[in-house]
Amino acid sequence: KLHNTIQELKGNIRVFCRVRPLLTGNQSDILHIQLPAHDNKALTLAKTEESHTGRTADTQKSYNFSFDRVFGPRATQREVFEEISLLVQSALDGYNVCCFAYGQTGSGKTFTMEGGDLEDLWGVIPRAVQQIFKSAKALREQGWQYTFTASFVEIYNETLRDLLYTGKPNKRPEHEIRKISNNEITVHNLIMLANQNRSTARTGMNDHSSPTLCLVDLAGSERVQKSQSQGERFKEMTAINSSLTNLGIVIAALANKESFIPYRNSKLTYLLQNCLGGNSKTLMFANIAPEEESFSESLNSLRFASKVN
Ligand code: ADP
Ligand code: MG
Repeated sequence: KLHNTIQELKGNIRVFCRVRPLLTGNQSDILHIQLPAHDNKALTLAKTEESHTGRTADTQKSYNFSFDRVFGPRATQREVFEEISLLVQSALDGYNVCCFAYGQTGSGKTFTMEGGDLEDLWGVIPRAVQQIFKSAKALREQGWQYTFTASFVEIYNETLRDLLYTGKPNKRPEHEIRKISNNEITVHNLIMLANQNRSTARTGMNDHSSPTLCLVDLAGSERVQKSQSQGERFKEMTAINSSLTNLGIVIAALANKESFIPYRNSKLTYLLQNCLGGNSKTLMFANIAPEEESFSESLNSLRFASKVN
């Protein structure tokens, strides 16, 4: 309850920043990203601009950011999840919750959301699922009944793909996002299938529709020059750019408490409509690659993250 009150005072959108380690070499080589030891909410990105003439001194530009939490390259998957498990608990308590990872390709989004095979390396998704089943087990022992439904979908070029589909590729059904009862947005065919496969009959009485927990691994946010991509790749880049841009617009509109939120402008925000806005809680990871060559993409991601915070 205390946690919920704090959330309400702060608004329902939180941003965590995570800087991945260098994949080779010494972590102390990350000179352009400063993480103050005494403050786990701050990050400074610095760049030295060399004087062109050689007559004036080099200038150091620094960009300061602050987020709800900043995780440095040494943060473990467990430490990161410790900050999220209350949010997963909120989903069990009836809130709609959305957690997604934003950042350029290679910045650690999939590592954060999915992680590795070994339990120590598990990311947010397996840890959240584990927490949900543990809580359900405890409640079941007290006589509660739970039914879980899960879907795993990909949005590609503004079409939805069911990643759990095991049938013939040419029989792959088209999935539509539909509004069902209680303003619940869902992937239509998937829920139909889940209901058909449901083994326990509904008891009717204490039958609550479940809250949704959406865990999202976004496409890379890097800006690609139009001239660098053609054909299918260009189409893909355009779809990705427009859906990420629209996600930013939606979240910024929610953060500013605007009256109209343009959910319908992309499949991504339409699908996430239930768990973005209203009574829901949103957590965004801004994933940052520590290599100096990623400086401008890092700055873009940090600015995007600041806008929604
Ligand atoms: P993205 O999904 O953003 O493209 P990945 O999650 O695939 O990026 O990360 C790129 C590479 O960096 C992968 O090899 C991944 O295992 C590694 N990596 C990312 N974050 C971490 C981390 N916090 N600790 C160790 N390795 C990481
Ligand atoms: Mg990835």
